[in-house]
Amino acid sequence: MKCAELEKFIFEYLENKLAHSVKEEFEAHILNCLNCRKYIDETIKCITLFRQLREIPCPEEVDKKIKYHLD
Ligand SMILES: [Zn+2]
Repeated sequence: MKCAELEKFIFEYLENKLAHSVKEEFEAHILNCLNCRKYIDETIKCITLFRQLREIPCPEEVDKKIKYHLD
């Protein structure tokens, strides 16, 4: 798996929706790739923050984009 591919799978990974074989590749990649580990960390922080701040209006585009992945 390449870094760009990992980015596409991150939301599915966090929701535990990846097929088993893909998940294994994903986890093997983050074990070996510091950049992707950081990227995932940042994404988790953003999602957590977003959930905490959900009552505060976000720019519509941002709102839609995150909701699309979360709902
Ligand atoms: Zn990577």
